Amino acid sequence: MANSRAGFGAFITCRCPKCGEGKVFKNSVFSFGHFSDTYDECPICGLSYEPETGFFFGAMYWSYALITGTILCGALLMNYLGLWDYAIVGIMGFLLLNIPIIIRYSRMLMLYVIYPLMYKEKFYGVLEGESDDEE
Ligand SMILES: [Zn+2]
Repeated sequence: MANSRAGFGAFITCRCPKCGEGKVFKNSVFSFGHFSDTYDECPICGLSYEPETGFFFGAMYWSYALITGTILCGALLMNYLGLWDYAIVGIMGFLLLNIPIIIRYSRMLMLYVIYPLMYKEKFYGVLEGESDDEE
């Protein structure tokens, strides 16, 4: 089917948003300085991971949302546990340790949410049902 998309498991394991098989990132999340290096296209199905120049610039907004959500949840958790005095140090430490994960999943959210919405032709190829709608 032309409208096939990969599922949640493929998202979590950082696989191609279309086929769910090909890797998105070249290196491990622990690869210092190179954890966000992305393949130009899917090694399995050939989907271009960057439909236009600067596509991943939008990941900045996703990382902002992820960081804000982490700070809010962290603050609520620290308050609930009665550790409010250590909240600044605890939450900032947690964020610093998780920067590679946040950056990688910001890019994954661009690929899984924005790509299929804004670049339908590139993502799905030629849509099968389109020619039938004219009659
Ligand atoms: Zn693929």
